Amino acid sequence: GEFITVKELAEKMKKSPAEVIKKLMMLGVMATINQEIDADTATIVAQEFGFEVEVKVEQDAETLYMQEPEDDPADLQPRPCVVTVMGHVDHGKTSLLDAIRETNVTATEAGGITQHIGAYQVEHNNKKITFLDTPGHEAFTAMRARGAKVTDIAILVVAADDGVMPQTVEAINHAKAAGVPIIVAINKIDRPDANPERVKQQLTEYGLVAEEWGGDTIMVPVSAKTRQGLEDLLEMILLVAEMLELKANPNRPARGTVIEAELDKGRGPVATVLVQNGTLSVGDNLVAGTTWARVRAMMDYKGRRVKKATPSMPVEVLGFSEVPYAGDQFFVVPDEKTARQIAEKRASRKREEEFRAAMPRVSLEDLFNQ
Ligand code: GDP
Ligand code: MG
Repeated sequence: GEFITVKELAEKMKKSPAEVIKKLMMLGVMATINQEIDADTATIVAQEFGFEVEVKVEQDAETLYMQEPEDDPADLQPRPCVVTVMGHVDHGKTSLLDAIRETNVTATEAGGITQHIGAYQVEHNNKKITFLDTPGHEAFTAMRARGAKVTDIAILVVAADDGVMPQTVEAINHAKAAGVPIIVAINKIDRPDANPERVKQQLTEYGLVAEEWGGDTIMVPVSAKTRQGLEDLLEMILLVAEMLELKANPNRPARGTVIEAELDKGRGPVATVLVQNGTLSVGDNLVAGTTWARVRAMMDYKGRRVKKATPSMPVEVLGFSEVPYAGDQFFVVPDEKTARQIAEKRASRKREEEFRAAMPRVSLEDLFNQ
């Protein structure tokens, strides 16, 4: 339905907010000045003041730009897959991500220095793969809690010498809940006590049956240390990605998700974002959660300045008003004023909610019985 803040309603009637709040109290509604009240309540209050009410449904800027217009299938183009690495602590998530990144960097450009921005891309057989560099299910859960779906494929890392552990099971549950296909990387196969067959056996208990055992889960033996099996793993990722037929429309205003954000001493608020649809350009204005940005500069994972970021590309963005949260979804709006307005409205709504949550509940009866 439609909403109006107490302040806006008061202004329309040329009354003070206090008068409106008083009237609301008499109707049994406890409200503060910035609180939004629904059209029915506003109508009753306005009638109490002797006004006739006509409720006009007008779409506000937030609803207008937040909605994702459907893409014409003809505008869709293939996009790289986005991969997250999950698994039990010490099973080699970070090592695996580093090994994949290093193998790739040294292969494409000698001495290339990679910068940590929370995500990176590799190229295998002329196809790109985006890796989210925030291992662990915490980041994953935080994003899902904010309604963000960023991952196309989950790599479940299980150490061949340690087997399935509690966080392995958690990771499986998270990936399943999110409906994300799982590829198992059985890591540390270089170790003398490695037992990949035992890992496969254990995983069957959680519904993951290896292909060679008649199931449909791809399991790749790897070693982050010796780099054995890494090519196979990339191969399998591309295979699964191809089946997913991932597409996006690069020719529209961008939207996506904040992957990481921090306050940089010299550069101010900095966020790594993943573009999920459309193309993000320097100069674009965007809203992310309760923050906004006029994109001042963008850097890819190698620290190179880029002017545009296409679907599935992670970029570091400068120009935020404040530090957004990981998992905040962003969308581009036509101008800075709109971006600022939407962000400010959201921020004040959030403050209002927090305030209300902290406020003791008082009923009218309580007030009159004092
Ligand atoms: P994470 O907690 O899952 O990120 O695990 P790390 O990547 O930090 O690895 C935990 C430990 O296992 C480190 O001491 C790594 O050097 C070691 N490790 C990771 N991968 C391998 C591997 O393939 N072989 C061997 N032998 N050790 C590994
Ligand atoms: Mg780690």
